[in-house]
Amino acid sequence: MFWNRFQFSRDIGIDLGTANTLIHVSGKGVILEEPSVVAMDLEEGVPLAVGEEAKLMLGRTPGNIKAVRPLRDGVIADFDAAEKMIQTFIQKCNEGKGLLAPRIVIGIPSGITSVERRAVREAGLAGAREVYLIDEPVAAAIGASLPVTEPVGTMIVDIGGGTTEVAVLSLGGTVVSESLRIAGDEINDSITSYLKKNHGLAVGERTAEKIKIKIGSAFPDDNFDDTTYEVRGLHLSSGLPRSLTLTSKEIKEAMADPLNKIIEAIKRTLERTPPELAADIVERGIMLAGGGALIRGINDLVTQETGIFAHIAEDPLLCVVNGCGEILGDFRKLKKIVDTVDMGTNSIRN
Ligand code: ADP
Ligand code: MG
Repeated sequence: MFWNRFQFSRDIGIDLGTANTLIHVSGKGVILEEPSVVAMDLEEGVPLAVGEEAKLMLGRTPGNIKAVRPLRDGVIADFDAAEKMIQTFIQKCNEGKGLLAPRIVIGIPSGITSVERRAVREAGLAGAREVYLIDEPVAAAIGASLPVTEPVGTMIVDIGGGTTEVAVLSLGGTVVSESLRIAGDEINDSITSYLKKNHGLAVGERTAEKIKIKIGSAFPDDNFDDTTYEVRGLHLSSGLPRSLTLTSKEIKEAMADPLNKIIEAIKRTLERTPPELAADIVERGIMLAGGGALIRGINDLVTQETGIFAHIAEDPLLCVVNGCGEILGDFRKLKKIVDTVDMGTNSIRN
C-alpha cells in the first residue's frame, strides 16, 4: 500500500476555494497555495495567467484582458476559466510524478450544482486516475481534527472568500448545513462602501482587504480599538488621490453588517439541529475555519451571540486541504465519507 502510493503514483488533495486554491501532495504536504484567479485574454478567449500572477492583475487590466475569479460566489461562474485553472494547478504539482496518474480528492463548496460538480470532476480527470469530490465542510472538519466519523455532533463554520459554510456533522455526513454567500469578499465590500459614504474615498478591492486584515475586528477590544492605518484612495469630490488615517474602531463598525449575517446563519443552523447533536455542540463548542476565522475577535463574537464557546482551528486557511490530504492517506475513511456524500457524482470506482 505504502509502496504503491509513493512509488507509482502521487495522490493529490485540492481545496478549490472561492479565494484560494491549495494542493496537498502525498508524501510532500501542501506544495501549492495560490489565489483562485484566472486572467483571460478576451479577444483570443484563452487564459494568460493563473493564480498569484493573475491576482496581481485584478482591477489593473486593460480592456482586452479580464482577471476573473471563476468560483467567486461558491458557484462556477466561468466554466472554461475554472477548468483551465484546475488543470494548470494540477500540472504544476504533478511534475516528476510516478508511473500512475494520481488519485485526487477535491473539496468543493457545498452549494454548487451537480452540473458544476461534473465540470470539476472532468477538469480533475484530465490529469488523474480517480477523482473524488468531497463537501468542503466535511474536509474542513477533518482538517480541524474534529471526530467527524464518530456518532457525535460537531459544528464547523468555514468563513472563506465568497461563501461561509455552516455545517453540523455526525458519522461522516452532513446533518444540517447552510451555504451563505456572505464571507470575506462581502466584508471587503462593506469596508469599501463605508469609506465611500463616510469619507468620500474610493478604494479598490485589494486595498479594502488589506484594511480588514490590518485593523479589522469583530469584537470590542480596548487594546486594539485605537489602532490606526493609513489608506490611499481616490477622493471622490476632487477626483484626486488622497490618503486618510482610519481607526480599528470605525472599521469594526464598517464590518458589522456582514458579520451579523454570518452569526444569523450559525443561529439558524443551530435551530435546525436535532437535540442530541445540539447537546454535543454545546459541550464541544463551535469550530471556526477558513480565512475569516483570522478576523480578530470573531471567536468572541460567535461565543457571545450563540452562548456556545467558539474555537479557532489551528491554521484555519489549511483546514480543507489538510482534510483532503488526510482522507487520501486513509482510504477507509475516504470511503466512509464519500459514501455518505451525494453518491450520484461520487461513484467509487474500484
Ligand atoms: P476560500 O476557501 O473561499 O478560498 P479562504 O479560506 O482561503 O477562502 O479565505 C479567504 C478569505 O479570508 C479572504 O476573504 C481573505 O480576505 C480572508 N483573510 C485571510 N487572512 C485574513 C486575516 N488575517 N484576517 C481577516 N481575514 C483574512
Ligand atoms: Mg475554503
